[in-house]
Amino acid sequence: MENKEFKENKRNKEYQVGDIVRTKKVHPCGSKLWEILRVGVDFKLKCQGCGHVITLERPKALKIITKNETRE
Ligand SMILES: [Zn+2]
Repeated sequence: MENKEFKENKRNKEYQVGDIVRTKKVHPCGSKLWEILRVGVDFKLKCQGCGHVITLERPKALKIITKNETRE
């Protein structure tokens, strides 16, 4: 449990505005890459395929983001 929380916290800090992230979900346009427009209580993500912008609650965003392309 403690390990998991530590990991989540670490992941939170890794995301910054402008980062490109990969998600579990594929957008209907076929893209899996999103640019982070906002981090905070909500995450705002812009699809790199079609430019569509979505807003997700932080826990949901952290759940679907699988990789930070900018920092790895
Ligand atoms: Zn899209």
